Amino acid sequence: MKSNQDIRWFARNNVLGNVAGISPMTVALVLIATGAGPVGTSSFAASKAIVDVSASPHVKFRPIDLDAARWTGGFWGDRWETNRRVTVPTMKQVMELPNNAATFRNLRLAAGEIQGKFSGNNWSDGDCYKWIEAAASVFALTRDPELERQMDEAIAIIAKAQASDGYISTQIQLSEKGRWTNLNHHELYNMGHLLTAACIHHRLTGKSNFLDIARKLADYLYTVFEPRPKELAHFCFNPSNIMGAAELYRTTGDQKYLRLAGIFVTMRGSQPDGSDLNQSKIRLRQEKEAVGHAVTATYLWCGAADVCAETGEPALLAALQGLWDDVTSSKMYITGGTAALHHGASQRTLLKQKPDLVFEAFGAPYQLPNRTAYNETCANIGNAMWNWRMLLLTGEAKYADVMERVFYNSMLSAIGLEGKDYFYSNPLRRGPADVPLMTQDSAQRWPDTTPASPVRCFCCPPSLARTIAQLHTYAYGLSADGVWIHLYGSGRLDASLPGGAPITLSQQTDYPWDGKITIRLEKTPPVETALRLRIPGWVSGASIKINGQRFTQEVSPGSYCELRRRWSAGDTVELDLPMPVALMESHPLVEENRNHLAVMRGPLVYCLEEKDLPPGIAIEDVRLVRAAKWTVRREPTLLRGVTVLETQAKRLSQAKRVDALYRRAADDSAEPVSLRLIPYYAWSNRGEGQMTVWLPVW
Ligand SMILES: [Zn+2]
Repeated sequence: MKSNQDIRWFARNNVLGNVAGISPMTVALVLIATGAGPVGTSSFAASKAIVDVSASPHVKFRPIDLDAARWTGGFWGDRWETNRRVTVPTMKQVMELPNNAATFRNLRLAAGEIQGKFSGNNWSDGDCYKWIEAAASVFALTRDPELERQMDEAIAIIAKAQASDGYISTQIQLSEKGRWTNLNHHELYNMGHLLTAACIHHRLTGKSNFLDIARKLADYLYTVFEPRPKELAHFCFNPSNIMGAAELYRTTGDQKYLRLAGIFVTMRGSQPDGSDLNQSKIRLRQEKEAVGHAVTATYLWCGAADVCAETGEPALLAALQGLWDDVTSSKMYITGGTAALHHGASQRTLLKQKPDLVFEAFGAPYQLPNRTAYNETCANIGNAMWNWRMLLLTGEAKYADVMERVFYNSMLSAIGLEGKDYFYSNPLRRGPADVPLMTQDSAQRWPDTTPASPVRCFCCPPSLARTIAQLHTYAYGLSADGVWIHLYGSGRLDASLPGGAPITLSQQTDYPWDGKITIRLEKTPPVETALRLRIPGWVSGASIKINGQRFTQEVSPGSYCELRRRWSAGDTVELDLPMPVALMESHPLVEENRNHLAVMRGPLVYCLEEKDLPPGIAIEDVRLVRAAKWTVRREPTLLRGVTVLETQAKRLSQAKRVDALYRRAADDSAEPVSLRLIPYYAWSNRGEGQMTVWLPVW
């Protein structure tokens, strides 16, 4: 019998490898495959992280406990507080309404508490579990008894709704559909979110009421999927179940759940009836191109990365790295969104085959339309979650860059500044009112609390709530020799390194509006310790001072700068990340953006909203002047406080407006116009109107 700690020990010390000539990874795989390993030990329950890799052999650092850090104000502190005060409580009220697309009412029906028919989406249950995960994450820092009561009440209903054999999915239980008859029924999506939420709830409350349900469910799933039934090879859509099973293994130490996660990864693409839409045309280990549904893709890749953290399997890691290269070199928006298509066909370049019909999907290489971009919020967050896992596996800053790009742009654009209205799709251009919107687009963010006009799909709001509640844990990492800082924001970390040495530090900064960050060490280990500061890939000329003295070694963008010394309480590190206005251009094969520029400052993508133009000037008539000067202006009362970027641009003369679809090319005349850009995330908070991220150049 080998515990997980034993696997780590075997892997790190290569004991069998030295003797028998097999790799440590093989040792770990053999131990997992043979089921050697006891049910969890006390060491498993100690973590309060959202992903507990404390015993995972193939990660570069551990995430911090959810209650080991908090924002102390600033950009993310404001958003965390809005999430606690507004988003999480109002979302629960909405999810009790029978006409909301995700509703706890279905669980109450299945529990026999009320009478009626199932309503809402097939994935309603999963979205309810995501709310519990969000609530538990807030509870970690507030210990709010009302939140605890609401969670306990919901969990009691879930327990009653669960079938005696462990199955739970109310859209099936309350209908004649039958179990496992159609992968679009989203059974595993619902169940996967249950597993994850239960693990996090257990860690943050110390209670096992939800975890007991999760184990019963996962034991049932093991009996169904362990025989690897061919007809279920491609179940299901949006596979949160892989992350869920891996996390349950980490919570309980039961190897069976890790095997289950591995089975889900391996079965996908193993049968001839797969599709690009569902990431099942090709086995993941052979996949080289990002195609198909972008939530399904990123959830699959997150789950595979979780498995990789335990097994270290090179083929799986290489496949994920290859997919990352494909996504970031030709299929990702400047905002970090990844789904170019509402509907379309998969276009592979490496493998000649008949295209599959897809929706909510990656486009072909460089197919990145702006007005019709889909960029579902869940897929954007999935992209950040995947990049965070890749960062865990590799320690490479390029993954943190993408994660930050998503958080500040394509994630945050999805929630209104007041914290209770939501975008499902996140395009980079909003056209005139008479241009029809695409599926799931909305003229403004969906209101959260309007029973009269229920939203059609409620997967994104609880994804936002849980991610914002957990965002501070993405900011730090811990390894035996020190601390990693991945994200900047005023806050405080009070943690222990894996070896047990306590470390306390604070960040003081006005990031992302200003690139100066002061890190003050308050409690330090009595030995040499590394402070690894992420130097973003977008920065040029970053510099560091330690206790006022300039750090003379190179500070390279797109890397972690390691400051290693014996620190003392009171030591300060000043990091300066210059944030000039940056004019960005696309690869020339992104047709729509050719001869266009986008404007960034620091991690923020900016946009032009119609409202910021003088009356009577159309957004499509504006031209940027490449050499024009920019003014950076703080506006404390605009859009809850933003920094705007101002410049002199050109606008086409009214007389030269083009009304014909085509015309003989003519020399346009132009007049100057003052331009004010706002951060992309803040658009559509002042009523309806046109918006654009990319602007043509005069
Ligand atoms: Zn969604």
